[in-house]
Amino acid sequence: MTTSPFYIFLDFVDHDQKIIHNRKHFYLLSQEKKAITDKVNASKFRVEAVKEKLLTLRKQHDRLELDLQAFTDKRQKKEDQLLQVKNQKDLLSVEREISTFHKEEEACEEKIIALWEQLEQVQYDLIHIQEKETKFQRECSKKLQDIQQQQDEIEEVYSQLVQQRKEKLEHIRPEWKKTYEMLQKQVNNPVVPISNGACSVCGTAITSQLQAQLARNAIKNCSSCYRMLYVL
Ligand SMILES: [Zn+2]
Repeated sequence: MTTSPFYIFLDFVDHDQKIIHNRKHFYLLSQEKKAITDKVNASKFRVEAVKEKLLTLRKQHDRLELDLQAFTDKRQKKEDQLLQVKNQKDLLSVEREISTFHKEEEACEEKIIALWEQLEQVQYDLIHIQEKETKFQRECSKKLQDIQQQQDEIEEVYSQLVQQRKEKLEHIRPEWKKTYEMLQKQVNNPVVPISNGACSVCGTAITSQLQAQLARNAIKNCSSCYRMLYVL
């Protein structure tokens, strides 16, 4: 490779493009990691939601068992009173109360049976969802590890590229370096070739005089977009 300032500069520009590409790749992988992490969180949430549902049903079940016990106690107490009633009126009153408590007990029992069915279903759902989501989370974790490994490699390349850039920068003509660094703050492709006698980015035609200068390995700015133009 020739060591003329022109080629050294183009090599430097190419080097910077590698750095831009490296950073883009790293960024895209970060985005991918974030998307996967979001999916893992959603997956964990799905499992937690079923666990929560199960817990709510168990609490409902426990409350109903307590209610049932309370009605049973009340009924038994009334049944004990039956032995002590002194007249027909009191007997009827106590029997009515016993009947009411008995109905309450039956209602509780019905609800408990319905809850058992629900509990059984949700327990079954939980086992399956845990199995499915754990598998999914494991796959995601593997993907995240792979991406992390790729990113570590990209970071290593990046630090090498940055180091090499410092060395290359020392050999760039000061006037090119100044314009290049100024343009670099505005666009990610400050140096572009001409194509069919025009700037390859904005399409502005290049005068024949300028083309002649470019042909002698000069670097000139596009009159419109101000990018640095060259001809190979
Ligand atoms: Zn242009």
